[in-house]
Amino acid sequence: MIIKSVNPYSQAVIAEHEILTNAQLTQKIELSEKAYKSWRTTTFHERADKMKKLANILRARQEELGLLITNEMGKILSEGISEVDKSAGNCDFYAENAEKMLKEVHYDTPFKSMSVYDPSGAVFAVMPWNYPFWQVLRYAAPAVMAGNVTILKHASNVQGCAKAIESAFLEAGFPEGVFQQVTISLSQVESIIASDIVSGVTLTGSEMAGSSVASLAGKHIKKTVMELGGSDAFIVLDDADIEKAATIATQSRMLNAGQACICAKRFIVTEKIGDEFAHLFAQKINALNQGNPLQNGINMGPLAKLEFANTLSFQLEKSLQQGAKILVGGEQDNCNFQPTLLDFVDSNNIAFQEETFGPLATIIRAKDENDAIAIANNHRYGLASAIWTEDRQKAYRLARKIEAGNVFINSLVRSDSRIPFGGIKKSGYGRELSDIGMKEFMNMKSIIIE
Ligand code: NDP
Repeated sequence: MIIKSVNPYSQAVIAEHEILTNAQLTQKIELSEKAYKSWRTTTFHERADKMKKLANILRARQEELGLLITNEMGKILSEGISEVDKSAGNCDFYAENAEKMLKEVHYDTPFKSMSVYDPSGAVFAVMPWNYPFWQVLRYAAPAVMAGNVTILKHASNVQGCAKAIESAFLEAGFPEGVFQQVTISLSQVESIIASDIVSGVTLTGSEMAGSSVASLAGKHIKKTVMELGGSDAFIVLDDADIEKAATIATQSRMLNAGQACICAKRFIVTEKIGDEFAHLFAQKINALNQGNPLQNGINMGPLAKLEFANTLSFQLEKSLQQGAKILVGGEQDNCNFQPTLLDFVDSNNIAFQEETFGPLATIIRAKDENDAIAIANNHRYGLASAIWTEDRQKAYRLARKIEAGNVFINSLVRSDSRIPFGGIKKSGYGRELSDIGMKEFMNMKSIIIE
């Protein structure tokens, strides 16, 4: 069986990838086992040396790899290139910090007691197409620096990226089996999760995929980290710098053609400044250029698949029927969906309740700051949030009331290697990045010496 890779802008078939037979998959799992036995015994210095090489390879090839990303999933070339660069930075970060992050911890007891961090086996990763390099290096760099090995099942539309990442690991000198990508069908996922070498499963993707994979992991008693959808609130209060808020709002909703779990999706503004914010936001969205993602001066390419653009059109139509008013955009042409702004959305509207995975922004009017927080929290998702106000003390107080894994004050929500990242509610559980993310798939072993 074959997976076809289709360029979402030109609709041309750019590659075909053969699905592994069950026997081939078993061989890959056995290779993981073999690799783990020796990889776990390597020193931090040896691992860091290879991880630094990997960072340099990614950086040296960022234009070529950025182009591969654009051709497979449609983001504009400059975003693809900076994604590869950011991924390289994450490799450097874990190469430089893993050893100190995993220092043993001593306890205040009358006898000697401590915790040490041991690797645990293979981390099985199910990853999405929206950041096909970043999502992979985000989990893989800490996993491998911890002494674990990993098996990646990447999204079917970015198999070329999966293969390019595996090649880069091998070229950096990692032994075969430390990082493997597998081209498989969904029916083969359970056999990987069930294998003894797999100690944990990490998934970034939809709620449905998360629920299915987490159920299988539960059945086989494997730990999971789930990074699922989001409908992040972007709260603008009376005293905010409205011009700046509107600029970052545009970036936060429209980057990656709106296809990120941490894109702001619900723009909750207080009544006093609502019209001014809506006017500025509409102006900035109107100024975006959509088109060929390879061309200079284009801010947004197509969505990654036709079904995503169709879903967004359905959500738009329904939300207009439910009373929302369109300020900008609204047209779909195949995979291209115009940057769109809706005003007067409320909590009964489909564009409020469902995740909108594309360039569709919604403005929700709130009476005051307490109402804004209540609206933000009135949601099944809890990934990230932003609050815009010049009063930083108030911002901190309000941030503590927000039901989300991350809150950013007066800035763009983004993931950063140094800071834990993840969600609550249906956005998932567990954390990626920082030392916390690294320790998710390690055996924290307590040793007591009398
Ligand atoms: P999916 O969740 O379907 O895909 C993400 C990954 O999960 C892919 O590798 C996919 O494989 C895999 N997958 C899907 N179903 C299963 C399953 N039952 N068992 C094991 N693996 C599975 O996302 P889509 O690409 O379909 O996008 C749909 C929606 O998901 C988006 O509109 C958005 O809401 C959300 N999403 C969220 C992301 C995030 O960053 N949190 C990223 C991407 C999507 P395959 O490609 O082979 O189907």
